[in-house]
Amino acid sequence: MIPALDALARLRDGNRRFVANQPMAAPALSADRRAALVAGQEPCAIVLGCSDSRVPAELVFDQGLGDLFVIRVAGNIVAPSQVGSVEFAAGRFGTRLVVVLGHSQCGAVTATLEELLGGPSEHSRDVRAIVDRVRPSVETVLSGRPTADLAVLMGDAVRANVRASVDHLRHGSALLEELIRKDGLLVVGAEYSLETGAVTFFDGVPEGA
Ligand SMILES: [Zn+2]
Repeated sequence: MIPALDALARLRDGNRRFVANQPMAAPALSADRRAALVAGQEPCAIVLGCSDSRVPAELVFDQGLGDLFVIRVAGNIVAPSQVGSVEFAAGRFGTRLVVVLGHSQCGAVTATLEELLGGPSEHSRDVRAIVDRVRPSVETVLSGRPTADLAVLMGDAVRANVRASVDHLRHGSALLEELIRKDGLLVVGAEYSLETGAVTFFDGVPEGA
């Protein structure tokens, strides 16, 4: 089992390589690696990220086959199947780091923000299920300052939405709470910048880590 902070260091190193355009993941994509993984997996981190085509977790963290257990859903929201997926990986594979990965210009957050500012609110029932999960954190960002600059609001809304998902994973599952309390599970929030390629870990990282 890889301790959470070691896994975090691995992801940070990988993202630095990605930003520098010096990927190391090629050996981790080889036929040998594939064959070695048939017997089992021990992913170093669980990543709950957005489905946005520009934010593939393995690429932005420069990881290979078997390295990350990835859950992707528009707006990196947490619904029961996401909690269950995290529980599955943490319980079955012993993975001790969970990263909620939001990103700049997130479409799900933008749609929610626009709706709350009086824009279009026509969504199918299923898209509505996503927007409704994003809405509370965006409402909190908007409250008291509806005239703030849209780009500032958008940045704050992306982070608030990540924090809400982190909070849900920390407190919405008895199994995960137990693993956090007794077994070193760490849930952190991060934001990927489409502009720079850099991932900033801004929530839940212990002081000095
Ligand atoms: Zn997104």
